[in-house]
Amino acid sequence: MTGHDATAAIVAHAYRNSPYLRSKYRAAGVDPTSWSDELFGRLPFTTKDDLRLAYPDGLLAVDPGEVAVIHESSGTTGEPTPAYFTRGDIDEWLDRMLFNGVGLSERDVVLVKTPYSMLTTAHQMHGAAQRAGATVIPAGNRTELMPYSRALRLLRDYRVTVAYCMPVELMLFARRALAAGLDPTKDFPALRAAVVNGEVLSPAKKRFLEELWSITLFPDYGSTETTTLGGACTAGALHLWSDRFLFEVLDEATGRSSPYGSGELVVTSYHRRAMPIVRYRMGDIVTVLDGASCPCGSDRPRVTVHGRAADRFTVGGRQLFPIDVEDVVYGELFGCEPVFWSGEVDGDRLALVLEATDSGAAEVRRRADGLAAAVDSRLGMRSAISVVPPGTSMTLDRQAEQEAMFKPVYLRMRGQNRRGLDYSGPSQEN
Ligand SMILES: [Zn+2]
Repeated sequence: MTGHDATAAIVAHAYRNSPYLRSKYRAAGVDPTSWSDELFGRLPFTTKDDLRLAYPDGLLAVDPGEVAVIHESSGTTGEPTPAYFTRGDIDEWLDRMLFNGVGLSERDVVLVKTPYSMLTTAHQMHGAAQRAGATVIPAGNRTELMPYSRALRLLRDYRVTVAYCMPVELMLFARRALAAGLDPTKDFPALRAAVVNGEVLSPAKKRFLEELWSITLFPDYGSTETTTLGGACTAGALHLWSDRFLFEVLDEATGRSSPYGSGELVVTSYHRRAMPIVRYRMGDIVTVLDGASCPCGSDRPRVTVHGRAADRFTVGGRQLFPIDVEDVVYGELFGCEPVFWSGEVDGDRLALVLEATDSGAAEVRRRADGLAAAVDSRLGMRSAISVVPPGTSMTLDRQAEQEAMFKPVYLRMRGQNRRGLDYSGPSQEN
């Protein structure tokens, strides 16, 4: 069931059974028991703040005995936000994960290298791969039990065909492989693909990582609260699972929502029972296009994820996202050994730091002038580029004590005191 009937049913379920949503809708003067199309547009949005305020069970909409699993994510402030699932919710979710164009089968060996602790990410690939008949290696991430040396051994000795991880992991894996005298394009012949999520990925960084490993990347897009919302097709486009969710694009200027265009993504699940997802604001700025013309044949809409609204910056009256910088960087450095970038923006000036391998630094330096010219022509920014040795900023040895889960922050504004590039992973690189 999709469309009107499904939307009416899930909203009625939320209103009847979730104490938090019922009082929120009542406070807004909306009564979803008498349904009309116009009513949906008046339903207040659900935000990450609502998830925090409803903690621990204000959003629970089924009998506690029906809950099969409780996941939890934490925002930047570290406050917990729970995500409940019934057995049926899990079935629907894992089925959806298999929409990804990677096309898992019993011939695949899947290394799951995202965190198992509380988040949904590892569990969605673990369950979906098993459902497809593939072999699962539950490596996990950000644990002292899984240093990169061990993960690399698993990747090689068990002839892993598909790696499931954040994009940054593929860069770290490659750096570790090269340091061990291994060639990522030749010494892992079984590896055919990586399904990546957890970070926004620019087209150029995707191509860079594909070349680095001689594999195909299949991005997955979602969150712990919603699980997978979209994924890459065989033609390389990112599609939204529109047969399972109602997607709206919220125009920030007008406050109006529409099925296509650019703005903040808002999602409503047609199926979720334990914790209804109704008009949930993702906080991500996206562009959604009609899917009809994709070469893969799918009519699901295509999406480009630009990044978090909060991460935007303005140069010369234009809005830019960190991945716009990333796209220029990896476009100009295509074919180089692993490189990590970080930058600081001050007006129209960009201070770029490139962390190269010892053997790759000379090539990165050789391309610095071309990169500066591209930053100027494509972003309208003047840049100062420095090339630094491995370990300068992308460190792997400080994280075991980090209690909050975080992702590398590639770009910051001058004077902004944010955590930088160092990345929460295992406590040692060896
Ligand atoms: Zn497609």
